[in-house]
Amino acid sequence: MNQNSKTIRREFAARHLCTPILASLLVLLLALAPFGGRLAAQEPADYDFHDSHFHLTNYIQQGISIEDYLAIMGDRVGRSTLFGIPLQQTWSYQNSGDFPPSYYLQSDAPLYYYSFTDAYIARLYEKLTPEQQARFDPMIVGFNPADMYATDHIKRVLNTFPGVFTGIGEFSIHKEFVSSKIAGEVASLTNPALDRIFDLCAETGLVAIMHNDIDMPFSKPKSEPVYLAQAKDMMRRHPDATIIWAHIGLGRIVHPDRSIASAGTATRSPAFMQVVQGMLTDPTLDHVYFDISWEEVAKYATETPETVQRTADVINRYPDRFLFGTDKVAPKNPEAYLIYTKCMHRCGKNCRQRQKEKPLKVIMNVCSTRRAEKCVHGKKRISKTTDDYVAFTR
Ligand SMILES: [Zn+2]
Repeated sequence: MNQNSKTIRREFAARHLCTPILASLLVLLLALAPFGGRLAAQEPADYDFHDSHFHLTNYIQQGISIEDYLAIMGDRVGRSTLFGIPLQQTWSYQNSGDFPPSYYLQSDAPLYYYSFTDAYIARLYEKLTPEQQARFDPMIVGFNPADMYATDHIKRVLNTFPGVFTGIGEFSIHKEFVSSKIAGEVASLTNPALDRIFDLCAETGLVAIMHNDIDMPFSKPKSEPVYLAQAKDMMRRHPDATIIWAHIGLGRIVHPDRSIASAGTATRSPAFMQVVQGMLTDPTLDHVYFDISWEEVAKYATETPETVQRTADVINRYPDRFLFGTDKVAPKNPEAYLIYTKCMHRCGKNCRQRQKEKPLKVIMNVCSTRRAEKCVHGKKRISKTTDDYVAFTR
């Protein structure tokens, strides 16, 4: 792994690991004080959590202003990722007439890749003060992962907006209801176009947030999740890339094991957690992180006291491998933004209280003890300037 890639991984993980977040959620809920409503310029000293998964705009490229989001973050959110959505929902008059769909479930018309989202996010970010910029990790999303030219887009964005972007994603490969609606060739974990993207991530240090359902909806009973093996193979092909698996591969109706579905989702969780634990203990996958964002994930995690305990146990055992994000899409107010943290409340109070700086130490320790020869601390992020990027790719 190149040194910059390692540094980025360490920095990003330190910012967004969920350990202090989950531990603080109970506190957050008990303290029902409203958000400050002010534009906090600097990262607050006593934030409640960082957000590793946040969409400023929705499926029709509309959203809230970055100033509104800063007000929502207030002094409760330390840092946040910042990205739009790579896909645009077509308003097909033939399909929905005068009704303008704003979500992919509201129309049968196709979705298409909307690359301008990256320029839009970059321009908003560039208008912020340096102190405000320091609170965001903008991400590149406007590429088609089935296109061999996707890497050209990513490089073009890096060079057009030097110093802005930290990583790529959230982009999707397999996603229930969505993948089949996208115009053109469907994305695949076995497509060399995707390998080129992760090669670029390894080369530049860009962090990658990938949405990939672990299974197909209504899959066969007692079978391994359909996309699990392909996902692991793909991740193993790119050990030098920092890969964040969004929602741990879960979705609205995607479950890892349908074999005992009639017994309720809670009883399915042990099998799923075995899959996750298997990946956590696999040394060939130690560059993979798990993002527990989205209410749909919270739905499974907090369903019963047993699922809460199982989830908390795994997170407590591997605190440096889980990231906390809201997956909120253009929330209109703090209440809409915070709903996810309320969902995770029961999980959060089961997680051990830890020092806020602990995740950083965990990562640095892992780095220094297992890969001492490859660790360089304090190096500038390669993806942050055009000069660095050009120099690196020469
Ligand atoms: Zn998302």
